[in-house]
Amino acid sequence: MFCLIHRWKIDRALDDNQELPRSTKTHIANCPNCRDHYQQQARLIEQLEQPSPAPEAPPFLRARIINALQSTEPRTEPTLSVPVWVPIAACAVIAFFLYPRTASLPSPLDPPIAAVKQPALPSVNLPEVNVTKALEVAHNTLADPYDQEMKNLQKDLQAAGAYLGRLVPVRVAIND
Ligand SMILES: [Zn+2]
Repeated sequence: MFCLIHRWKIDRALDDNQELPRSTKTHIANCPNCRDHYQQQARLIEQLEQPSPAPEAPPFLRARIINALQSTEPRTEPTLSVPVWVPIAACAVIAFFLYPRTASLPSPLDPPIAAVKQPALPSVNLPEVNVTKALEVAHNTLADPYDQEMKNLQKDLQAAGAYLGRLVPVRVAIND
């Protein structure tokens, strides 16, 4: 019964990192079970506060792990490795070709226009057509049936033009 109380006091003192009460010290001196309990708990707390370092992997295991990692690593393709200056050089080349060339530097790619000789086209003699005469003939043959129709249409157009002429100033005035 007393042992239970003293062990509780031992645990609390160790958890709070404090000294044991004097009554518990005297009990430990006389009770070997509680003394063992105290020593066990103190050792346990000491191990928890000072965790031992992680065990080192044995050398053969370390070598095997490194070999496995190296075998799974993707091999770097030498053709894919592009030096840093390549895009810069590409930009410089593009800028060189895009820059407008001065006349003093003729490019061998486009020869002067005078050098390209157009082949002479064969001349074709078209029969001469009297356009005015043809139109008069066409008018005379076509105009008669539509003469009255054309006159009516002209009247309508004139009326519409007069109407629009009156309308436009009014609309402008309204818009102003
Ligand atoms: Zn005891």
